[in-house]
Amino acid sequence: MHRNLSHIERSERFGARNYHPLPVVVAKAEGVHVTDTEGNTYIDMLSAYSALNAGHRHPRIIQALKDQADKVTLTSRAFYNDQLGFFYERLSDYTGKDLILPMNTGAEAVETALKAARRYAYRNKGIPEDQAETIVCEGNFHGRTITITSFSSSEEYRNGFGPFTPGFKRVPYGDLNALEQAITPNTAGFLVEPIQGESGIVIPPDGYLREARELCSRHGVLLLADEIQTGFGRTGKRFACDWEQVEPDLYILGKALGGGVFPISAVAADKDVLGVFEPGSHGSTFGGNPLGCAVAIAALDVLEEEELAERSRELGEYFTGRLRTIQHPDLKEVRGRGLFIGMELNVPARPYCERLMKLGILCKETHEHTIRFAPPLVIQKSELDQAFESIRQAFQDT
Ligand code: PLP
Repeated sequence: MHRNLSHIERSERFGARNYHPLPVVVAKAEGVHVTDTEGNTYIDMLSAYSALNAGHRHPRIIQALKDQADKVTLTSRAFYNDQLGFFYERLSDYTGKDLILPMNTGAEAVETALKAARRYAYRNKGIPEDQAETIVCEGNFHGRTITITSFSSSEEYRNGFGPFTPGFKRVPYGDLNALEQAITPNTAGFLVEPIQGESGIVIPPDGYLREARELCSRHGVLLLADEIQTGFGRTGKRFACDWEQVEPDLYILGKALGGGVFPISAVAADKDVLGVFEPGSHGSTFGGNPLGCAVAIAALDVLEEEELAERSRELGEYFTGRLRTIQHPDLKEVRGRGLFIGMELNVPARPYCERLMKLGILCKETHEHTIRFAPPLVIQKSELDQAFESIRQAFQDT
């Protein structure tokens, strides 16, 4: 027997309050559209923080999910399964890296990469035990575990969660001098988002990633690129690092890899790096499960066959151009790469997101003043035009 509560009341009453959702209750979704419990339809301009690059319930991905669910869903890694090898091979080809290590969530993939970098550095650089350092950036977002929270620059993320994991140094994002000065003989890795998503779609200066790559190579420091949000076509290229022809030592991947239906994350790196793990040193019960692997293979097929990176590049340029025509005192800047766009305001962004919701557009503020637009990459130009009219309307209504 359910109590007589609305969906929102039930969620608020029985759920921990670690999110502040917009007051819309999604009941169905397809492609770029979601429908709420009252039958109102919206264009999804957030895509579950870029996990839905292929759109909601892409038929090919759903078919792969159903077919695999009818065969075997979970084996654990105590046994091999007949999907995992294909997944490794596919993602290895996609990333150009020798080896893949599968996990489930983005944060787990980040933790995996940090462990790999530390071990690699101890074995290859002769860093004294427990002295390895990892450089990270101000404004970073890499997830919510204690270790990742340890090196966040956001007080909101850290407050009350100490004691924290040592071994991290923060430098300003985009500042190569600061990066160079922070490197010591004990530096194992530099962990960076090629574009900072949660921080408000912050794009570093041109050449930053390329020069950071050179610095890392010169000092024997591994470059760990967190492409969890920016990867798989989101910014108009396969990976955001590709904008500067940069090949990181480790790709950290998640979100869209699971086709919007399954949590699957991974680290991709060459043998010398991921080879540091032997049986017993790392693992996950669900990581590499056949259901997730089948889904991820289908998601990669869709990304490539539907040329979603190219779509993102073309449509992103078009849509950003249109957004830039909006003139309003509340609007500070429109910036983005592909369909990964931030609209920074001079005022809080939340009321704009609420207004847009009423106009049939779902999006979310990030860091108080920025509205993030990251629609599914399967979106049509006409749908972007429709979204644009609502956005223009939202500014007119103030
Ligand atoms: N890294 C980046 C760049 C992210 O954007 C996110 C999630 O927003 C994460 C890591 C954490 O991923 P997850 O929420 O799947 O743990």
